[in-house]
Amino acid sequence: MRSVEQIKQCREIVAQWRSERATIGFVPTMGALHQGHLSLVKKSLQAGHKTIVSVFVNPKQFGPNEDFAKYPRVLDMDAQLLKDAGADMLFAPMATEMYPDGFATKVSVNGLTEYLCGPFRPGHFEGVATVVTKLLNQVQANEAFFGDKDWQQLQVIKRLARDLDIPTRITGVPIVREEDGLALSSRNRYLEPGDRAKASLLYITLRSLADEIMAGDNIDDALKAARIGLFENGFNVDYLELADANTLVPARNLDKPVRLFVAAKLGATRLIDNMAVN
Ligand code: AMP
Repeated sequence: MRSVEQIKQCREIVAQWRSERATIGFVPTMGALHQGHLSLVKKSLQAGHKTIVSVFVNPKQFGPNEDFAKYPRVLDMDAQLLKDAGADMLFAPMATEMYPDGFATKVSVNGLTEYLCGPFRPGHFEGVATVVTKLLNQVQANEAFFGDKDWQQLQVIKRLARDLDIPTRITGVPIVREEDGLALSSRNRYLEPGDRAKASLLYITLRSLADEIMAGDNIDDALKAARIGLFENGFNVDYLELADANTLVPARNLDKPVRLFVAAKLGATRLIDNMAVN
């Protein structure tokens, strides 16, 4: 596996691979890799791509009171996992090259970012959209892989790729979960043991809400009861919502594909999850 820091080096290797008629698959991450990330890598390798995984903890997508400083950074372990998984390149750009002095551009996606996490994390999706646009331009892959775990982020990235004519196909990959249903996340390691045991309640809540909604229960009542249930179990719920899977606008019927979305804090750890309903 090649391991590179500079954008120029990354581009040179990509050019070499292209000259050998390889296709390029790309998996952007913030590191602290787990089986969720590795499922994206597998998907890319299975598609036959030379597979590049970036690890970059993007300062622009963290709010002032969020966990940028203490976000886990374990690049050596990540490199080993990627090597074992068969990835072709680890691309770990430096912040000084990503955002040199005088950097002044923002990518902002309207509409989709007004819902769900948008109001709770001002500036977050601009940070994500800006860094992902840069990374997609740096790597120029045929296909890039993102997890359904961050469904809103996936929709934002599909939108910006279409709107900005970025010629990389954006592919979503199903959520990888722990045995008790908790969606794998680099942030799960922050959970206190007692909170870790409770955390699967997010999945259990989504699962039973989806069943209730499919059975025709009143959607507002079901959502309200589920929010109270989470609150009573110690979750500080930012939102628990049923929304159109594509536009993310809150939905109160099943006319179009809809999903359940939740974001809640357990202690200091903010967890998100989502699930298809129909
Ligand atoms: P992150 O390092 O958290 O920015 O995540 C990098 C990529 O991995 C994103 O596309 C995430 O959606 C995806 N990802 C993270 N956790 C999971 C999971 N449990 N299942 C599937 N994809 C995931």
